[in-house]
Amino acid sequence: MICNSYHRTHGFQQFFKTFSFTGSKFVGYDCRYVGRRFFSDDKNDEKGSVRTNKSIWNAADLQRVFNNNRTWRKEMLSQDSQVFTKLSQGQEPDYLIIGCSDSRVGPEEIMGLKQGEAFVHRNIANICVSSDMSLLSVIFYAVNILKIKDIIVLGHYGCGGVMAASNNKDLGLIEHWIHNIRDVQRLHNDELQKISDPERRHQRLVELNVQEQCLKLFSNSFVQHMQAETRLTQMKMYPRIHGMVYNIYNGKLNYLDIDFKSKIEKLRDIYTVADFQNHNPIHIDDATHVNVNVNVNVDIYRTTKSLKSMTNCHNRPYTKNDHKIIKKDVADRLVLIRPNSGRVPPRPLQCYASTTIRELKIAILKLSGSPFEQQKLYYKGKLLSDNDSTLDINGIAKISEIELREAIIPSRFNR
Ligand SMILES: [Zn+2]
Repeated sequence: MICNSYHRTHGFQQFFKTFSFTGSKFVGYDCRYVGRRFFSDDKNDEKGSVRTNKSIWNAADLQRVFNNNRTWRKEMLSQDSQVFTKLSQGQEPDYLIIGCSDSRVGPEEIMGLKQGEAFVHRNIANICVSSDMSLLSVIFYAVNILKIKDIIVLGHYGCGGVMAASNNKDLGLIEHWIHNIRDVQRLHNDELQKISDPERRHQRLVELNVQEQCLKLFSNSFVQHMQAETRLTQMKMYPRIHGMVYNIYNGKLNYLDIDFKSKIEKLRDIYTVADFQNHNPIHIDDATHVNVNVNVNVDIYRTTKSLKSMTNCHNRPYTKNDHKIIKKDVADRLVLIRPNSGRVPPRPLQCYASTTIRELKIAILKLSGSPFEQQKLYYKGKLLSDNDSTLDINGIAKISEIELREAIIPSRFNR
């Protein structure tokens, strides 16, 4: 009764006092007070005594973690006095690790990774649910922003989640999560039923669970689009996906040798959403190898001038090979790629007013094998960047004709 009375009078007045209003617009409120009022077990609250300047929890109960933190910080600084300054400047992790929440399988500890080396997502039994917003956000950020090249699904023997899925008991809410492992069991039931030793059967289910979660990652659209992109621009597909299992009984980490190629082949027709075949925005007729360095100079001319005069201006003879590449009725720009190392002759490429720096880089990649991201294109000493362009809806950089003329076309040909 006292409590009710408190809520009706003093409590509500105090509660609303903690809000600030600008006109009718809500600005904010004191979280400490609200948390304290409704979640505290402090007996003083029953008497209506309100404290707003202290935490409801006693930090002294957690003294161990603060002591540990002090020791750890000291140790870190003794190894490198600038360690926190460096880490505060940003992260460039090598791996995305999707592991189990189990307290015995901290990925960084097991793999000996330092701060900043792994981007980590953990849940019960390291499951990749295709509609899990938390996991999807992690994958999106890791793949598209951090440009992580390796994703590791890390399972472990003795996994409580996997064990639970092997029993016919309802675990309430968790049952709906481990249902995903029951699905793995169903997919591989024939193989699992042949294993008589229950411990080995459990271990095999752990491995198969990791395998199936890896396949889920292959089917993820963010992963697929990045793989299609890097296949074109770097001649390799990133991110790569790996399955690993940690043995809690002896501390060993094992790489699962999964034949992803044949497994993906079977799933390709169902799950492929990225365009791996036609991800190439430019067509190059002649893909003869030419030794182009990573740093190249480009000159761009309009093809209104005769082919002969254009090639002559670079003091080199016209060759038959040029004619194959430059089709006057199709291309309206001629790009001469001149490696700055010297001896290699300039290489002409046919282009259009709408050809982008990005497309140009892809063409150079095809001709020379120079990695897309490492190419530096110069025009008259000025570094051309992908930002010299706007982005269209497909993420393909485009430069308008005017921008191209002003930025790149030499004035003597710009008539
Ligand atoms: Zn586990």
